[in-house]
Amino acid sequence: MRAAVLRHIAPIEENPLHLEDLPIPEPAPGQVLLKVEACGVCRTDLHITSGELKPILAAVTPGHQIVGRIEKLGGSTIILKQGERVGVSWLGGTDGTCTLCRKGMENICDHPTFTGYSVNGGYAEYTLARADFCVPLSEETPARDLAPLLCAGIIGFRSLRVAEVKPGDRVGLFGFGASAHLAIDVLKHWGCEVYVATRGASHQQLARDLGATWVGEATERPPVQLDSAVTFAPSGDVVIAALALLRKGGIVAINAIHLDRIPQFDYDTLLWGERQLRSVANMTRADAHDFVKLAVDIGIKPRTTVFPLDQVNEALAAVYNETIDGAAVVLCQ
Ligand SMILES: [Zn+2]
Ligand SMILES: [Zn+2]
Repeated sequence: MRAAVLRHIAPIEENPLHLEDLPIPEPAPGQVLLKVEACGVCRTDLHITSGELKPILAAVTPGHQIVGRIEKLGGSTIILKQGERVGVSWLGGTDGTCTLCRKGMENICDHPTFTGYSVNGGYAEYTLARADFCVPLSEETPARDLAPLLCAGIIGFRSLRVAEVKPGDRVGLFGFGASAHLAIDVLKHWGCEVYVATRGASHQQLARDLGATWVGEATERPPVQLDSAVTFAPSGDVVIAALALLRKGGIVAINAIHLDRIPQFDYDTLLWGERQLRSVANMTRADAHDFVKLAVDIGIKPRTTVFPLDQVNEALAAVYNETIDGAAVVLCQ
């Protein structure tokens, strides 16, 4: 099979992934072999290829928004069927036994497996996945429309859950990339008013096209108090700006793995009154199942640009340089 492999971390200009011919892997008991239709590009892939996320394996195939078909079952106890279409996301597995897993918080499991990071991912013609972490996918929807749902979409959806968004709420989105442009469809479906502050004329136009109530520059602030907000930019200033717009009892969910810093802020005016500041980490299988079902029900269709597998570095570069709107998807067959 053809697979894009990261052997040495490198900046994006140096084309960090190399196409190699490798044997098709054998599924172990509890695993499935997937024939990959498509795999969406996520910003986390860039953190992996650049080494901002410390390498775990000597060589790894990244990619964690995988749409594939089950080619082979490992062992006889798997409930999935051969030929079934499934999705695989960033959470490739958990131990199932740690305190957090037992409390239903598998997204912050102490011993997680991350697809395309601690195990091989989807920029390949075939890949392995844990059967119990596969999400059933619709047969009718094109793979390019499903792939971006599997990380950007699920994480955006989880952010709305962490922010405890209720139907009809006034919700702020700070930043408008792959995750936010899928979350807004859910918010509109719930009848929410959506206030978007983001940089870049094309992101602002996309937010208007998708039905935002108000759209402004990254530094502009909506003219209302918000019930909740999600921040997507890796900036503590943005987090504090969002906090300053919250009504009493409101929640800011931070959807960013890294923040530059949180500036000193005034507790009495910004956090008092049971305002909450929360981070969003990974996803649970329930988030994945619930979001994928909702997305198909309400017909969420991500904006995508597709690349063939042999242009996977170009796909990563397009996300890095923000030269495309919406999501980049690699077609793997
Ligand atoms: Zn991701
Ligand atoms: Zn665990």
